[in-house]
Amino acid sequence: MSTDELLNRHRAVMPNWISPLYAEPIELVSGAGCRVTDASGRTYLDFFGGVLTNMIGYDIPEISDAVRRQIDKGIAHSSTLYLIRKQVELAEKIAKVSGIPDAKVFLANSGTEANDTALLLATQYRRSNQILAVRNSYHGRSFAALAVTGQRSWSATSLSPVNVSYLHSGDRLRGLFAGLSDAEYIARAVTDLREVLATTTAGDVACLIAEPIQGVGGFVAPPDGYFKAIKEVLDEHGILWVSDEVQTGWGRTGEHFWGYQAHDAVPDMLTFAKGIGNGFALGGVVARAEIMDCLNAVSFNTFGGNPISASAGQAVLDYVLSHDLQSNAARVGEVLHAGVRGLDSPIVAEVRGKGLMLAFELVRPGTLDPAPELALRVLEETKANGLLVGKGGLYGNVIRMGPPLTLTEAEAKEGLDILAAALAAAHQQAV
Ligand code: PLP
Repeated sequence: MSTDELLNRHRAVMPNWISPLYAEPIELVSGAGCRVTDASGRTYLDFFGGVLTNMIGYDIPEISDAVRRQIDKGIAHSSTLYLIRKQVELAEKIAKVSGIPDAKVFLANSGTEANDTALLLATQYRRSNQILAVRNSYHGRSFAALAVTGQRSWSATSLSPVNVSYLHSGDRLRGLFAGLSDAEYIARAVTDLREVLATTTAGDVACLIAEPIQGVGGFVAPPDGYFKAIKEVLDEHGILWVSDEVQTGWGRTGEHFWGYQAHDAVPDMLTFAKGIGNGFALGGVVARAEIMDCLNAVSFNTFGGNPISASAGQAVLDYVLSHDLQSNAARVGEVLHAGVRGLDSPIVAEVRGKGLMLAFELVRPGTLDPAPELALRVLEETKANGLLVGKGGLYGNVIRMGPPLTLTEAEAKEGLDILAAALAAAHQQAV
């Protein structure tokens, strides 16, 4: 069956709102290291790492062996009614690296379930369903996770199980924070938080949920130290802070193991997913024990932390730590950041991110007008030359990269050459 036939069958039987990227969609059939191969036999360097999901690359024997050993036992998963050794071991490992004191870990299948659970815990613990979220955020697609998602294109519904007030945040290109120094940015954000608390809430807010670096939002991040200042205000009101580390966790930013650690403050809960499963479905919440244990109900996901995913998760975490992939993210990330900055393209307005989490925003030359059509052109050009990158941002004009943390310097340079040619072609189109 050709990829075209598969696309027609996809359209006939799958929802319209799951649409494959690219004018001619790609069907991936295999992978090795940082490369993937499609059904026609073409190989690509994967600078998006799936969607930051294939965190240590493809076809890693340590992961396949761990999963195979579990499969060979004959029980992929039975039920959370019984003790699951792999689950307990994984929770211990995650609690240890989380940086959250007295940590307990709830295991789920996705980032959405993780955030939904964190919101449930916060609302129960604080006996309030008032939540603070941040504009331009993305937290998943359950009812509650969508309710705290600050992007119209993903929100889908205004119905909500929680009351949400949105804080301002953003890049320095446009809007409230344009042109501000770090200190001015943080001061303005604190003023905004105080105003939101005083004007749009009854003072009984359960939590703030926020990404240290907004993923789907286009790798927009507040300055280091922002969350310390924000948390001081939250603490005055007893409001919990949930750090959504679905994209920023496990050393991806290079300088720290978690995104929150750039801010010299510790959240009450963090949520994780994507990379820790390296393609297997795994997510979860880390919370202080008194918060985690506040639920007065039986509550689990049938498949959350099943032995297959938990085996994969343990092997991934062990691999990240034993190969010190955080240091690799810092080193190779620097090559990538310097390389993209060095391209000095007139259609790139801003290069953002940290470590192996890098994005740049495309605009019409000489303006700050978002240019989503140029982002599409860059996608197509890079694809044609064997490089996969991602897209995002509020205006769809941001190219995002989150390659496996195993990316080598040589691979970074190979990708940069392809990016340079793609940007040159997009620039030509723009003038
Ligand atoms: N939180 C963040 C920051 C994300 O980027 C995503 C997915 O992109 C989610 C939550 C939702 O995760 P999932 O798609 O695994 O449900």
